[in-house]
Amino acid sequence: MSDREKAELLKRLVGEVSWERIFQKLGLSARRRTSGVLVLRCVFHREASPSLHCWPSGNFKCHGCGLQGNFVDFVSGLEFKDVCGADDLIDFFITLPSPPDPNQLPLPFINAKPAF
Ligand SMILES: [Zn+2]
Repeated sequence: MSDREKAELLKRLVGEVSWERIFQKLGLSARRRTSGVLVLRCVFHREASPSLHCWPSGNFKCHGCGLQGNFVDFVSGLEFKDVCGADDLIDFFITLPSPPDPNQLPLPFINAKPAF
């Protein structure tokens, strides 16, 4: 794969990423605010109370240590200590857990047992 093809693949993969999928893969848990922002304890510095904010747009910022960036910055800073290349990132993003299947609808109401 050429560098250009790798860059295009990485761009496509990052376009399908969500914080939920990254956190699931890394075993992190976050609290969702009504605004949609996910808040968790910073993974880049030690802290007692959560100050790492992750927006649905893909940006993050820690109000404790000041680190900020996007999905790629988060993953490269955390998983590869800033020494990652396109191959490492593609590997990480391509093995993320799948998003929930929108076609997987709950069973039809007609099959539900009466509540009384
Ligand atoms: Zn921090």
